[in-house]
Amino acid sequence: MDIEPANKFLKLIPGTVRIDSEGVELLLLREYGAVFAAQGIKVPPAVIFRSEKEVVEFQSLLRVSTVEICGYEMTLQKPAMMALQNAVEETASLGFTISPRGQDSAARNYLETVALWLSRVEPGLDHWMTEGKISLDDCTRIRKLQPADQVNEILALERKGIYFAKDLSKSIIYSVAPPGASQHLSLLAFDVAEFEQADVRTILARHGWFQTVISDLPHFTYLGAEESELPGRGLKRVQSHDRTFWIPDI
Ligand SMILES: [Zn+2]
Repeated sequence: MDIEPANKFLKLIPGTVRIDSEGVELLLLREYGAVFAAQGIKVPPAVIFRSEKEVVEFQSLLRVSTVEICGYEMTLQKPAMMALQNAVEETASLGFTISPRGQDSAARNYLETVALWLSRVEPGLDHWMTEGKISLDDCTRIRKLQPADQVNEILALERKGIYFAKDLSKSIIYSVAPPGASQHLSLLAFDVAEFEQADVRTILARHGWFQTVISDLPHFTYLGAEESELPGRGLKRVQSHDRTFWIPDI
């Protein structure tokens, strides 16, 4: 790694994980990197997977568990699923539920994250070309790039104020995870239908499931730790939207 791991969070990241000096990985770690602080599970081998092959290889190494929850078959890393099931049971005993938002609430594959990314990039390129901010040649060149290389180009345009979030007013990373950067690929994330209920959030936290992506309210991440342990894992508490998020302190 090019950057000296000077702080608690970066020290947790395996030395084999590439963090380049252009700052793309650091930017993505700030938004989605909390999985690297998780305990008792397998962390991804990179901040951003670069292909379907890399994702398939990683997922094939995992101990996973597939369970039907409210009619949806959900797959997660085994400790994450066991903790989720305990949380589901606890809520059931109190008379309410924790359920997935949809079929893609737990595991995802790489191509699904590419499709989601392009749903923002394609209309953004059309818009900024019409506005005269990007040339036709640049649009054509960017469209032909591999998704992981496209991420670098799009983030470089955003540094010049040419934004790609759905409303084109802010960074695309507050709108979708770049392809290969989603926590769902590591089988450590779960999108909860009942995310607005404070009791549900409290019970999930008690079972090691926390909110770690400030722009994504239904999204929970398995960290496998008590809340009191999280600062020691390099995460910092942020209050936003009347709830608590734990994000990498970098
Ligand atoms: Zn999610």
